[in-house]
Amino acid sequence: MPREYDLAIIGAGMVGASAAWLARKAQPDWHIVLIDRALAGHGTSLYSASLDIPYGHTPLRRALSTRSQSLFKELSSAISDLPIGPLKIYGLSDKSQAADVLSNFIDENTRIAADEELQTLKATWPGLHVPENSALLTDTIGSRALKNQVAIQIAQAFTKTPNSTLFEGTEVCEIESTPNQHSLKTSQQTTIRAKRLIQAIGPWVVSGPEVDHMKERGIRVKKIVALHINQQPRPDDPVFHFFDDDAFLMPQHNLGQWLFSFRCEQWDVIPEISQLTIDKTDLDLAKTVLSKYYPEWLHSISGGRVFCDAYAPSGEPLIMNVPGKSNYVIAGACSGSGYRLGPAIAERALSLLEATNKPKQKDLEKQEMVE
Ligand SMILES: Cc1cc2nc3c(=O)[nH]c(=O)nc-3n(C[C@H](O)[C@H](O)[C@H](O)COP(=O)(O)OP(=O)(O)OC[C@H]3O[C@@H](n4cnc5c(N)ncnc54)[C@H](O)[C@@H]3O)c2cc1C
Repeated sequence: MPREYDLAIIGAGMVGASAAWLARKAQPDWHIVLIDRALAGHGTSLYSASLDIPYGHTPLRRALSTRSQSLFKELSSAISDLPIGPLKIYGLSDKSQAADVLSNFIDENTRIAADEELQTLKATWPGLHVPENSALLTDTIGSRALKNQVAIQIAQAFTKTPNSTLFEGTEVCEIESTPNQHSLKTSQQTTIRAKRLIQAIGPWVVSGPEVDHMKERGIRVKKIVALHINQQPRPDDPVFHFFDDDAFLMPQHNLGQWLFSFRCEQWDVIPEISQLTIDKTDLDLAKTVLSKYYPEWLHSISGGRVFCDAYAPSGEPLIMNVPGKSNYVIAGACSGSGYRLGPAIAERALSLLEATNKPKQKDLEKQEMVE
């Protein structure tokens, strides 16, 4: 009879790999298995711009962003060569929205700049076009990963710990659950058994196990596109975040280029890279937004990166117990922010598992009455 794991995690992206690492830290003796249909970190996480802006448009996103910042610090001190570095962020927003935008920042230093500071910014960046009536948000420090390898490195750090197993190239096709055990049938027609289960399968959630719950909650998959701009960044160049258009320009020093991220609205795409390219609709939309802020760089567009992510209607990640099944948690629908929110999503997923293990208050009261 093969081993029964204490915890199985399906999906080794930012969420799943972080969950494996955090579970290992909390439970040194547990036998934990991390399973991925591809190589660890080669799903959505591989395509991420990996920008961590200390911002959230809902209370949950702000809480996750705050917590992830602490967890990234822990990860960076535990995994010595994690490629994460600080980055200055300037925000532009219409003056009428600036107070709202400011209130969504979790970085307490962020403030609305004085008019003179906006003039200085314009002088320093003659190519940057600041729309009429814009406010500048300044003094924000975020971070970014220098390479898209954070999930890969977290998964590798996990596998180096005792009692840890990573199955790559292994798709979980079916799950049978009893109150005490989950049996995962794999593409190799093997069965992996575990007491507890976290499913963190990124955009594949809309076709994976327990898909009906995803449909009920309106989870859908949206294409994400970011263009590469063939312009060499200077060492201290900041990110420019354009809040009115949900877009940003980010320097990528290691690649000698800038990245322009904008809001693509192509929904219900299939999460397979062979099916996803940057098409004319994407390019036209990107050009419209870029021409508003940095028209000079329209001629420097040199392709880009494209994949997709699962989105919830509220934009809030999904972290839920599967109804009627004990110790089975689904975590994801990162809604385009799973790099920066991933560690905190993973931590909450683990805490849901723990909660299911604890006797419920009512049961405790019943026990006390019997005694
Ligand atoms: C172009 C682009 C730019 C982005 N920029 C940013 C950014 O700047 N900041 C930010 O915070 N976020 C960004 N994101 C979003 C972020 O990358 C995602 O939210 C995050 O990577 C999702 O992580 P995940 O763990 O949920 O999913 P994934 O990374 O997709 O991991 C899921 C894993 O599950 C595996 N899997 C699926 N089905 C199965 C199965 N049945 N059995 C076994 N394994 C399975 C997959 O192979 C995959 O490795 C960007 C995304 C894209 C595409």
